[in-house]
Amino acid sequence: MAIIGFIGLGNMGLPMAQNLLKAGHEVCGYDVVPAARQAAASAGVRMAASAADAAREAEMVITMLPSGRLVLEVYPGILAVAALGTLFIESSTIDVASARAAHGLAGAAGMASIDAPVSGGVGGAAAGTLTFMVGGLGAAFARALPVLEKMGRKIVHCGDAGAGQAAKICNNMILGISMIAVSEAFVLGEKLGLSHQALYDVASTASGQCWSLTSYCPVPGPVAGSPANNAYKPGFSTALMLKDMLLSQAAAASAGASTALGQHAAAMYQSYADAGHAGMDFSGIINAIREQPAG
Ligand code: NAD
Repeated sequence: MAIIGFIGLGNMGLPMAQNLLKAGHEVCGYDVVPAARQAAASAGVRMAASAADAAREAEMVITMLPSGRLVLEVYPGILAVAALGTLFIESSTIDVASARAAHGLAGAAGMASIDAPVSGGVGGAAAGTLTFMVGGLGAAFARALPVLEKMGRKIVHCGDAGAGQAAKICNNMILGISMIAVSEAFVLGEKLGLSHQALYDVASTASGQCWSLTSYCPVPGPVAGSPANNAYKPGFSTALMLKDMLLSQAAAASAGASTALGQHAAAMYQSYADAGHAGMDFSGIINAIREQPAG
């Protein structure tokens, strides 16, 4: 069993660390927020006094932080103290350029590294059923795999450095756009006198079928567990969806890709968040669409 450093023990990081503990690993953790440190300590994580202290004795170091800027701020300190050859697993959702920069720093310090963002949310983190999308060398992926399998159900090696983040933001751009498509269809159906259930029964088994419809239906009723049945409490908050949509647009701009629908969807989530709904589930965007004047 390994000693694993874990930096960033928030909504996702703590349940992921708990699954590593359950699997018999020793987890040495750090978070800047005292409440997060206390929660992690009560869950059995050995708490370090700093991120560097969490990395010092570790065979692997996992980071689960809010942004690429923070990852690049934390990396130099932990790379400076880790033993040569330590494996760095960067699991935050961040921009591809920062992910590649983190790989560069790790490589220059003589460490192995992967980018390994996740999908599956807080529920998947707790249940150990996350999907990991991994970028980096095959040897680093092979070393990480047994540990990732303790936190996730599906682990995909997507390619070289940054490929995991690229897959993550492409997937979430599909999700952000498809939720708006499904929402517009339900609002149009309402105006045409169609019941939600009738539209669901047809589209869920026809060519309109997609995850936003069948797992996360934006109207209450057809899918019991969807946030629409719980006053649009997240789930997956509009703030996080907006973050991922903006990452996709930054990537599209730097790669020279045309993502017209992604751009429009990002603007719609931005105005929904600006209207005070950043903390609501992103499927609540249907309510903003319903209120929009026709045109
Ligand atoms: P969170 O804000 O709950 O947790 C992040 C933690 O990092 C916080 O506890 C914060 O105090 C800590 N932190 C910030 N700066 C730090 C530093 N310098 N050193 C140590 N700790 C520091 O966020 P989260 O929901 O756990 O998300 C983490 C990452 O996972 C994000 O990149 C997010 O986009 C991604 N993600 C989240 C979800 C989700 O449903 N919440 C799903 C998939 C991916």
